[in-house]
Amino acid sequence: MPKIYLIDVTNRDGVQTAKLGLSKMEKTLMNVYLNEMGVFQSEFGFPTTRHETLYLQANLELAQMGALQPIRLEGWLRAIASDVETAFRLVPDIKHLNISISTSTQMINGKFQGRKQQEDIIHDMTEALDAAKALGAKTVGVNAEDASRTDITFLTRFGLAAREHGADRLRYCDTLGYDNPFTIYETVRNLAENTGLPLEIHCHGDLGMAVANSLAGAKGAIDGGQDVYINTTVNGIGERAGNADLVAVVLALIKSKQFADKYQLGQPIDLSKSWKTAKFASYAFGLPIPINQPGVGANAFAHSSGIHADGVLKDPENYELYGFEELGRGDPVMVETGREIIAGQYSGISGFSHLMGRMEVQFSSREEAAEILELVRYANVEAQKPLVEDELLFIAKYPKIAKKLLTLTPLE
Ligand SMILES: [Zn+2]
Repeated sequence: MPKIYLIDVTNRDGVQTAKLGLSKMEKTLMNVYLNEMGVFQSEFGFPTTRHETLYLQANLELAQMGALQPIRLEGWLRAIASDVETAFRLVPDIKHLNISISTSTQMINGKFQGRKQQEDIIHDMTEALDAAKALGAKTVGVNAEDASRTDITFLTRFGLAAREHGADRLRYCDTLGYDNPFTIYETVRNLAENTGLPLEIHCHGDLGMAVANSLAGAKGAIDGGQDVYINTTVNGIGERAGNADLVAVVLALIKSKQFADKYQLGQPIDLSKSWKTAKFASYAFGLPIPINQPGVGANAFAHSSGIHADGVLKDPENYELYGFEELGRGDPVMVETGREIIAGQYSGISGFSHLMGRMEVQFSSREEAAEILELVRYANVEAQKPLVEDELLFIAKYPKIAKKLLTLTPLE
């Protein structure tokens, strides 16, 4: 039986969202948390974008050191051979790629204004794919942008050409959130049966159906005989109305009525890391978690009305589909109400040593402490808000990597 895997795209679709963004340190922490959760792959950034280069290299180094394992780190780029060459020139160790090109008539005509036809799209994609394989890519996913508005005959031809040139997966992008569970099921099943490629399902929430469509698409791929890879983002952060939320997708896969009887995850997800991951994303993006967010919203386990409160006290299963402990909730949170010592971009050695001592970090010498403090100052310059404990611990543990993440040299 084919299985379901998760590819999180917070560090690509999430960070390209208007008005939102993450520092390179925050993107790195996001990869660490996704790895802890057991997510199969992180679409960790843009290998042709200059300010991403050192971040991408540093994260690949972390993977080599075993600190970011077993998660796969995959870069996103346009399906253009020259972009693939740029990607390998800037990030030579990159092994996993997704290459993207528009496939719908709307976008081919609307974007290329008559300069490209369907045949050119297939030509550009296969040329980019050949280049990626020749330059050492281990896996390449091919993204059909606006697939949900693409004629199925052309989409199938596109997928078959991708398979012929060695693609590992076809990403079905419902770029505008246009699909519904019934249409995406049919289309994805059709593609699975007729292209023979594993499918990726990439859904957006413009009509409020990103999670439902992800499940229906996954069912379509598996019924069509193929493995399926659902694209998610943490807290559903993404372009416009957002992407399919990671925690909600996992809950829907394993908790919704009868779904998991037949359609199962290929590797286990540690849901107990959900709370920590969602809270970090919320802090890093500067975006509150909606009160009614599945699993991690403030009201997800709150009961007030007489009948509900009475019922849940007698037996939680009366009014709760799953327990808060499963999501890593329920631990008391320490909130400082008196004096606070905080590390910032102008911190000194005394306050910093006090802070790190409280986290039981010992430095071998004053020089070492001064060096870590300097990195922490730079991290604060980039983040413009207090670092979380895990960021401070990360910098203390991997100072060389931190230095790389904090190095930005424009116009060189
Ligand atoms: Zn998207």
